[in-house]
Amino acid sequence: NTNVVAIIGRANVGKSTLFNRLIQKRMAIVDDIPGVTRDRLYAQVEWAGKSFYLVDTGGFPNEDEPLFDMVGKQIDRAIEEASVIIFVVDGREGILPLDFRIAEILRRSNRRVIVAVNKIDEPMHEPLLYEAFALGFEDVVGVSAEHNRNIQDLLDKVVMYI
Ligand code: GDP
Ligand code: MG
Repeated sequence: NTNVVAIIGRANVGKSTLFNRLIQKRMAIVDDIPGVTRDRLYAQVEWAGKSFYLVDTGGFPNEDEPLFDMVGKQIDRAIEEASVIIFVVDGREGILPLDFRIAEILRRSNRRVIVAVNKIDEPMHEPLLYEAFALGFEDVVGVSAEHNRNIQDLLDKVVMYI
C-alpha cells in the first residue's frame, strides 16, 4: 500500500515552501514508487511511526496556460495518485473564488482533504484562518511554512488518515 499525500492549491499560496518544510529532516529521496509518475520529485516522510510519500503537484508554471487549466491538472493528478490531499490556501490573501472551485472538485473526489491555511506567521494572524472553514472541510489547520509554525500539527493530521 503506497500512501501518497499531495499538496495542491493555486499559485503562490506557498505549496513549494510547505513541501520543503514538511520534508525537512524527515525525508529520503525517492527513485521509484510503484504506480506513480516520475516527472516530479517525491519525498518519503516519516512521522509518528508512519511513512508516506509527499508530492508537490504545483509543477512548473507555464506562461501560456490559463490559471484554472494549470490548477485543474494538479487536481486531476492529486486525485488520481493520492489518498490524502493537503489543500493549501493563503490566509493573508483570503479565500478566493478559485479556492471554492478547487474545494468543489475535491469534495466530489472522496479523498481525505486537510486544508492548510498558510502564512499564519504569528499568533495575531490566527483570526484569518476562520474564513477557510467556509470551504466546507472539517480539517483546517493554520500554518506558516516560512516561519515553521504548526507544521507538526499538520503532520499529525496527515498521519491520522494513512
Ligand atoms: P507556490 O506557488 O504555491 O508553490 O508558492 P511558493 O512556495 O513558491 O511561495 C509563494 C510565495 O509565498 C513566496 O514568496 C514565499 O516566500 C511566500 N510564502 C510561502 N510560505 C509563506 C508563509 O508561511 N508566510 C509568508 N508570509 N509567506 C510565505
Ligand atoms: Mg510551487
